[in-house]
Amino acid sequence: MAREKRTSSTGEKRAPAEGSGKVVCIICGENKPGIRIKEDTVIRSIKWIKRNITKNEKNNTLVVCRGCYPKYSKERSKYTSRQVLYIALGILFAIFSLLLNPAPLTLLIAAMVLLFFYGLSLLNYSPALDVQKKGKVSGTGAKDS
Ligand SMILES: [Zn+2]
Repeated sequence: MAREKRTSSTGEKRAPAEGSGKVVCIICGENKPGIRIKEDTVIRSIKWIKRNITKNEKNNTLVVCRGCYPKYSKERSKYTSRQVLYIALGILFAIFSLLLNPAPLTLLIAAMVLLFFYGLSLLNYSPALDVQKKGKVSGTGAKDS
């Protein structure tokens, strides 16, 4: 499987032990094969926390199984649209507060609020799938108006 390799500037080592765990669907939590999810910053942070802080890394391969795909794609589009909304709100807040009170402290508060909104958006976190677009998966386009 040809996967796009992104060179990370952090120089973090990728865990080579993938596959020693189970293949688990992120939606139903069952041991089923499916489409792998992409390891993004959020997933990597969660794994890092599990490995280094809570010490309960299960080393599972996270996938979305066939049966859960419709549910997943709904959640994913909800997540992405919410994230846009939250970040837009955060930016708006930052702009307004800086207009009202242009001070370094305001900038700091605005940055914190932005971060807070970003954090809020992560409550609905839904990871991307690790697939190259082949036109095989159709109906991914969210058609809710
Ligand atoms: Zn499932």
